[in-house]
Amino acid sequence: MRFDLSAGRFVETDVRADAWAVIGADRALHWHELAAEAQAWAERAREQGFGTDVPVIVRGHKEAAFFVAMTGALLLGAPFVPVDTIYPEERMRRIATTLGAQIYFDAQHDRFVNLNGGAQPNSNEPPAQPLREKNLAYVLFTSGTTGEPKGVQIGRESVAALAAWMAADFALGDAPVFLNQAPFSFDLSMYEVFGTLASGGTVVLASRALTAQGAALLATLEHHGVTTWVSTPSFAQQQLLNPQFSQAGLPALRTFLFCGEVLPLALARQLRQRFPAARIINTYGPTEATVATTWIVVDDAVLAQHARLPIGHAKRDAEVFVEAGELCIAGAHVMRGYLNRDDLNAARMFTHHGQRAFRTGDLGALEGDGLLFCHGRMDDQIKVGGYRIELMEIDAALRALPGVASAAAVPLRRPDGSVARIVAFVAFVATGSDDRRLPDVLHDWKTLLGARLPPYMIPSELLACRALPVSVNFKIDRVQLAQDYRDAHLNAQRPANA
Ligand code: AMP
Repeated sequence: MRFDLSAGRFVETDVRADAWAVIGADRALHWHELAAEAQAWAERAREQGFGTDVPVIVRGHKEAAFFVAMTGALLLGAPFVPVDTIYPEERMRRIATTLGAQIYFDAQHDRFVNLNGGAQPNSNEPPAQPLREKNLAYVLFTSGTTGEPKGVQIGRESVAALAAWMAADFALGDAPVFLNQAPFSFDLSMYEVFGTLASGGTVVLASRALTAQGAALLATLEHHGVTTWVSTPSFAQQQLLNPQFSQAGLPALRTFLFCGEVLPLALARQLRQRFPAARIINTYGPTEATVATTWIVVDDAVLAQHARLPIGHAKRDAEVFVEAGELCIAGAHVMRGYLNRDDLNAARMFTHHGQRAFRTGDLGALEGDGLLFCHGRMDDQIKVGGYRIELMEIDAALRALPGVASAAAVPLRRPDGSVARIVAFVAFVATGSDDRRLPDVLHDWKTLLGARLPPYMIPSELLACRALPVSVNFKIDRVQLAQDYRDAHLNAQRPANA
């Protein structure tokens, strides 16, 4: 059995209906159970007023019901909006406001929840505003520079193209068994969601609790015969600390599928040694172009030829080109646009050879051998452990703290350019005093920020300053602030009489 993404329904195949479809953190479902539960979920959602083109927020973390709800939404024609519980409820509420949503699905408790407290929504009104864009598969909210998450609208044609590409080029076998580690609110996870549905494979949902225990995670993956590892490079890097993370520990593993951030050469080399029978595929692309757009198999020849790994070449039916130093993407997998953000759509989207096209904001180059490279960002977007963060979203949350007049989140980078952690500088509303200690109201600033931001966006330190430096174009000078931070630390480390 598998799910036909073009037809939007389950179809029988040679893969038996009693094979595993979803190994959730709480319970597991065979394919026939997934089909029955998804159908039942679609009926329940219909009773709540959801239907074609009416988006449904699904909130939870790695429950089988989360997967059921996404599949049920595909059956119903309702775009799903995945929100992991790593995000505070306040963020989900802001997403709900953007969608005009009054009801969401709580996968942890397997129930629909009314966002207006106990009050029943008006039964004549839809539970969320029907979308202007028709026939979407999902809307995924990603970090936004204004402080509001922005909704990336992905069409059903785009996910069908994703699954077709995976089947044609990734050589994952007939019924792959995927590791799912990224939250469903991170589009990397859509590899496993649509890869599993389209192929009739299996997905193993690894919760944060499980991934925190390296040995238990590997035992689970070994037990279920995981063939296809999907994660950011950062997550695989963490696993290398465990000597069991090897071909002997995971004998069925045949593919590492990476996306979301730079794949370091040293990591790829170590994986080649530990997993001689596995292919390493480096893929690149923003959420706005349905998970990934370029790819390359990182074999020994590629490792020998490059000091920094390329992102490869465009996938079939897509075009990638460099315009004024920026990577641009065209194809049916490019989003339909950001939800209700005509300003951004006008700036970032265009038509190229009759296809939707997107300016990524990534610096790129096409080298002589025809391979593409990504050389970082043109803007203030960063990656921490693969998570995408707009520094301006953190700035906005910092400015909302009591007494704060202006603020800047500053990434501290390792020598290779990757971000080790984020610190924050804040200037307070003028009081006439020159006191640069944090006021008492801010003693629990991490908790205050945590009401609005997920843990990975919360700076590790908060530093008070009189005023924030600005660069020639009057933008906050984060490079200067990072330098100030390093200088202050070096001074603090020097002996007093030096
Ligand atoms: P996201 O939308 O979270 O998938 O993040 C997309 C961004 O991550 C891209 O625009 C790049 O800046 C970065 N990125 C994704 N994949 C790669 C890769 N393989 N190599 C380098 N950077 C990447």
